[in-house]
Amino acid sequence: MNGPDLDVLVVGGGVVGVATALAFAHSGCRTGIVDVRARQAMPASGDPYDARVLALTHASVNLFEQIGVWPAMPAGRSGCYEAMEVWDDRSPARVRFEASAFGMPCLGHIVEVTVLQAALESRLAGQVREWRPARLRGLTVLPECVRVDLDGERVEAALLVGADGAASRVRELAGFGWNERDYGEHALVTVVESDWPHGDVARQIFLATGPLALLPLGHARHAALVWTLPEALAAERLALDDASFIATLTRASNGVLGGLRPLTPRATHPLRRGHASEYVAARVALVGDAAHTIHPLAGQGANLGFMDAASLCEVIADARHAGRDPGSRSVLRRYARWRRGENAGMQLAMDGFRWLFNDCGSGGGELWRRGLRTLGMRAFDHAGPLKRALIERATGFSGDLPLLARSAAAQRSEMGAW
Ligand SMILES: Cc1cc2nc3c(=O)[nH]c(=O)nc-3n(C[C@H](O)[C@H](O)[C@H](O)COP(=O)(O)OP(=O)(O)OC[C@H]3O[C@@H](n4cnc5c(N)ncnc54)[C@H](O)[C@@H]3O)c2cc1C
Repeated sequence: MNGPDLDVLVVGGGVVGVATALAFAHSGCRTGIVDVRARQAMPASGDPYDARVLALTHASVNLFEQIGVWPAMPAGRSGCYEAMEVWDDRSPARVRFEASAFGMPCLGHIVEVTVLQAALESRLAGQVREWRPARLRGLTVLPECVRVDLDGERVEAALLVGADGAASRVRELAGFGWNERDYGEHALVTVVESDWPHGDVARQIFLATGPLALLPLGHARHAALVWTLPEALAAERLALDDASFIATLTRASNGVLGGLRPLTPRATHPLRRGHASEYVAARVALVGDAAHTIHPLAGQGANLGFMDAASLCEVIADARHAGRDPGSRSVLRRYARWRRGENAGMQLAMDGFRWLFNDCGSGGGELWRRGLRTLGMRAFDHAGPLKRALIERATGFSGDLPLLARSAAAQRSEMGAW
């Protein structure tokens, strides 16, 4: 056979990598995926929770519906939150968002990473060639394809997509730089059982030490905790015995759901913002955490990665349709232009929120910052159009969305416009 074995080879089979591979297969590309890990089995209904959860936007869920993943999500293991409350522990400022006020069925979905991973992987068979467990060892860019060395095997593809996470080997081998800032914070995560039902409300309290989020799961009294803390304090809280941890957490959460008891072991994750100096080169493109990492305070990291996947797929589909080489730098630049601004803008917004709400190590100025927060949140809570614009953006209802991430209705009206 002439030409490369595959149109697209995705290196990295985390949630973003598998979504990318399925999106390419959906658009008719011969697609392969490589990962060092074996497949994730779907947890059974009574299995313990995965403490790592993702808040998914509507745009991400639209993508999952298009590529056939959403129906594979088991009932009862994800939460759909209808409202969100955000407040500042050090002032009376409070903002509440109601899905119904914006004509939305819900603001988003909370899913366990292992459940989403298993649902994504369940769609690979028959659509995507898999190399796993296999590790990327090297790559050579040739004029007509990219040659990839896996453990003892060579694969050629017209395009290589790096979805191999924050420590991306693809990024390194392609010679791209990585601009990183360590926040000096860790996120402590676990799933908790509360005295009172969460009422399908996502809650985020801005404490002086960082935000504490309680994200509602399918069970009425189970919520995922994401508690951002300075590194040393996170280590202390991780080491507390259960009784002391429960008392500290219940106090820190302002008792909003009564007592909170962990149902899973606690774990911590270091928080860093990173951005690749380039997203693309001839025959190579980066998506997801390989291209950018972001503070999790608004739960946007993986969502940005899913939008990278859908946008790249759309750019490549357009190029193929026009008879252009999908691996050429000029085609891939359109993807980089599309996504870099969106991702950088979100990073900047997260840093802004973090600065405004975090009094730790800020070197003074807490009083006027507190005043700014109180005034800003009060004004914002009553600013209808601004509130709508922010919520539509954060939940994936607006923005420069790729076709695969638009709702079926939006796609139909787009088609009608042609
Ligand atoms: C505490 C916390 C809370 C978060 N909450 C949210 C949230 O609510 N919503 C949200 O959207 N995002 C959230 N995020 C961000 C989100 O978790 C990440 O953005 C997302 O998981 C990144 O997925 P990925 O597939 O790009 O990378 P990864 O998950 O890192 O996957 C990379 C894959 O590449 C494979 N790999 C690596 N090297 C190689 C190699 N050489 N060869 C082959 N395979 C390789 C790995 O095995 C892995 O499977 C949160 C992050 C944190 C830390």
